[in-house]
Amino acid sequence: MTALVEPIAGNYFVAAYPPFSFWNSDQLPALNQILRRPASRAPLGLYVHVPFCQKKCDYCYYLSLIGQPASVVGRYLDNVVKELSIYSRQPAI
Ligand code: SF4
Repeated sequence: MTALVEPIAGNYFVAAYPPFSFWNSDQLPALNQILRRPASRAPLGLYVHVPFCQKKCDYCYYLSLIGQPASVVGRYLDNVVKELSIYSRQPAI
């Protein structure tokens, strides 16, 4: 039997964004502690999900929204850029 393993702070790969463990504000100190670490030499993996699709693929388990207006997509992308900008100023990044 395979156990369901929740993504944890500091994982190289984030399977859910934000990781389930960060959906609780109690976990924010742990996230901030990780982001304040000096940058490592390890490669940085970055996955940016843009959850707007023309149709839902049968095999897809990602969040995807169909038929959203361009204004919603644009607002989402603007906020992704803002969030990436915030992360880019963190020492770990
Ligand atoms: S439904 Fe899923 S797999 Fe298909 S295009 Fe959208 S995100 Fe990609």
